Amino acid sequence: MNIAAANSPAQPVIVGNRVELQLLTTLQCNLACSYCSLGVGDVLGSQKRATYTAAQLGDFVDKHLADKEIYITLYGGEPAMNPRFALELIDRFPLVRFNMQTNGTLVAKLPDKVLARLVNMMISVDGGEAVTDRYRGKGTWKRVLDNVRAIRNSRTHAVLTARMTWWSGETSIEDFDELLTVFDYVYFQFAQDDQAHPPESVARKKAVLSELVERFFASSDTLYPVVPLMGTVRNKVAPQRINELSAGMTQCRVSTNLLNVMPDGKIYPCPDMLYDTDLLQGDVVGNWVRKSPLQPTPEMPCADCRANAYCRGNCMKNLYLAYVKNDANWRTRVVEPVCDMIRHMGDEIDRFDARAWFARAAQPVRNRLLNAEVYEFCEVMP
Ligand code: SF4
Ligand code: SF4
Repeated sequence: MNIAAANSPAQPVIVGNRVELQLLTTLQCNLACSYCSLGVGDVLGSQKRATYTAAQLGDFVDKHLADKEIYITLYGGEPAMNPRFALELIDRFPLVRFNMQTNGTLVAKLPDKVLARLVNMMISVDGGEAVTDRYRGKGTWKRVLDNVRAIRNSRTHAVLTARMTWWSGETSIEDFDELLTVFDYVYFQFAQDDQAHPPESVARKKAVLSELVERFFASSDTLYPVVPLMGTVRNKVAPQRINELSAGMTQCRVSTNLLNVMPDGKIYPCPDMLYDTDLLQGDVVGNWVRKSPLQPTPEMPCADCRANAYCRGNCMKNLYLAYVKNDANWRTRVVEPVCDMIRHMGDEIDRFDARAWFARAAQPVRNRLLNAEVYEFCEVMP
């Protein structure tokens, strides 16, 4: 990442040709996950359904984003609890791609018109059945997988992606493989919580990472569709792609081309810090927007990190809390263990010759590795 360029006043409000509008269409949710990030600052439930209209969002897009490709992620809270607004948006934006990030428990009840327009669904799990049910409530894992089976092909052609928050050292490669019998991809993100990564849990996760990397390189005829592995290998064999998609900065686009819109229309760069009014970036109702205030700073350790070329800052929220807000607990219990696991994953990949693997790979594998649409919906790479 180029810190000087990122902080230059000359940098445009939106970097690149494309922008994701991540709309928190409601802050209500039907689950009570033990660790929900919207619980920080009491954001969850603090507003109900979107109070701005699809027409107001259209005016905002016309004024500020007319030269961009926009795509929309329906987010929450639980976006399946506000299908009426999803239908309004679909009618107002007939040309854009829609993604939904959901807990998966209500998706079979969504109107067909919504399901038919989704190109991707990110469906949250925490690992296998036991771990997911522990965090999300008994029976959740089975209910989610039953729903995915019920809508696949018959009601939606969306790419179905398991979005795994990786907490537990109990999660095994078999849990990944079981999810891949139902989902098109597993996208994992290390949990952002100061209880998630004690040393023994990090050791177990590293062992699973090593197994995953081995599995990834076991064949060049088929792709092992676990996204951070795919993305890391992509960044190693084709580093220009991360420059195209997020100007060489975090994959989550929080510094470049992602706008999170609260139900009241207020815009923030990161959906996990909606409580921090210093980060207010714009307002759909007031029809204004500024450059993301969440940018890399010289205090952050990435410039000297051997993982930087493929990691590019991982999670800007974590770095901001650890090195701008100087939260020592967050730095030692979240950022440092996660960075340790990211470097381990990169080192394990380097035990194989990724460029030689890519050179051997079947054309569909190469194409998917370089251009999979799912990258545009993932928050962290890795
Ligand atoms: S591993 Fe950590 S320090 Fe290294 S580039 Fe990624 S976020 Fe930055
Ligand atoms: S990955 Fe990006 S969007 Fe997600 S919490 Fe971190 S900074 Fe925010």
